[in-house]
Amino acid sequence: MYKKINLKDKEIADLIEKENIRQEANIELIASENYVSEDVLRAAGSCLTNKYGEGYPGQRYYGGCEYVDEIEKIAQERAKKLFNVEYVNVQPYSGSVANAAVYMALLEPNDTVLALELSNGGHLSHGYKISFSGKFYKPAFYYLNDEGKLDYDEILKVAKEVKPKMIICGYSAYSQIIDFKKFREIANAVGAYLFADISHISGLIIAKLHPSPSEYADVIMTTTHKTLRGTRGAIIMTNDAEIYKKINKAVFPGYQGGPLFHQIAAKAVSFYEALQPEFIEYQNQLLKNSKAFCQTFINKNVKIVSGLTQNHLFIIDVKQSYGLTGKEAEEILGNINITVNKNTIPHDTEKPTVASGIRLGTAAMTSRGFKEDEFIIMANLIDKALREPQNEILHNVIRKEIAKLSNAFPTGKPYLIS
Ligand SMILES: *Cc1c(COP(=O)(O)O)cnc(C)c1O
Repeated sequence: MYKKINLKDKEIADLIEKENIRQEANIELIASENYVSEDVLRAAGSCLTNKYGEGYPGQRYYGGCEYVDEIEKIAQERAKKLFNVEYVNVQPYSGSVANAAVYMALLEPNDTVLALELSNGGHLSHGYKISFSGKFYKPAFYYLNDEGKLDYDEILKVAKEVKPKMIICGYSAYSQIIDFKKFREIANAVGAYLFADISHISGLIIAKLHPSPSEYADVIMTTTHKTLRGTRGAIIMTNDAEIYKKINKAVFPGYQGGPLFHQIAAKAVSFYEALQPEFIEYQNQLLKNSKAFCQTFINKNVKIVSGLTQNHLFIIDVKQSYGLTGKEAEEILGNINITVNKNTIPHDTEKPTVASGIRLGTAAMTSRGFKEDEFIIMANLIDKALREPQNEILHNVIRKEIAKLSNAFPTGKPYLIS
């Protein structure tokens, strides 16, 4: 477990400790979460939070930046190595802000952007009507086919119709491989920029378990806190010097003020970890776990959107499989200390706040040391619980099994890094 925090402010210290205990007790299956190392935590909690430094290394609006300049440059160099790109901006506060900066860098207001629709697996910042991306730009969408897969001929057809200035590939809830080369061809056919948002799969890309967009996309963005297992935040990458200049301007002063140097240092530490062979092992295990987890559900005739997963996550259609809404399934599992999130499925008839699916991911529990066997046990427990949602005696038995598992795999010691 992470060390207990000792603050004069007992109210907040108490709540942080409760959250610490919750993270320890629960089986964490939210696909976008992970457990960072203590080194990442230390860097994020360091004195760097005191420092202001608007601008970029060597060109700041403040004095005293000699050390934070070095830290930011090291973060950039490591990211370049990890993703095989020429230019990196490591300042974005989050993935959504990074995406806003990419839009600002490449587009004018009301330009058309083509992306995967939200309930099909896209992200809010890819054109949802109440996000900046839907309010200040013109969204157009492509959809998954009946097998729940990307259909490149169909995407080309839509692209020719709507003539987007930018096409986005990369998703929040898509479990199959993305063919970045095909997306490049589509973008070329309609003269659009190609933007790869690899927030979810960046760890797999580093480990070469998913193809890289580095030679195809004009711009690449990833959050740093999902499979990459770093601190919260994001980075934007490109191989084009002109685009890089525009990105830098859009991040600061376009959308952001002073960089969060404690977060930039924590990103650098997580990149250091991602450059170690243990990280590749972690990604390999995470993928093996995800396939074993998913296959166990398939063997029980549970309906999985898009079929067997090819990455760290998958969506269960709980409506068709168990007659439950996503919201109900999330609550039932929450009551037995399994944390998941409800998720819409293609052609969902429920609102996003109710949804017909749940999304499961293996990044966090793999960090705690789960292997295939533990995930097979988990699939069996989840399936039992959802088949008999009213059976409290059964749920009490399962809760005890969950407690045994979470006790056996404590947090705070991410996979092979201690
Ligand atoms: C998580 C995610 C984001 C947003 O990241 P935040 O840090 O939550 O703003 C953007 N795009 C995709 C595809 C994501 O999965």
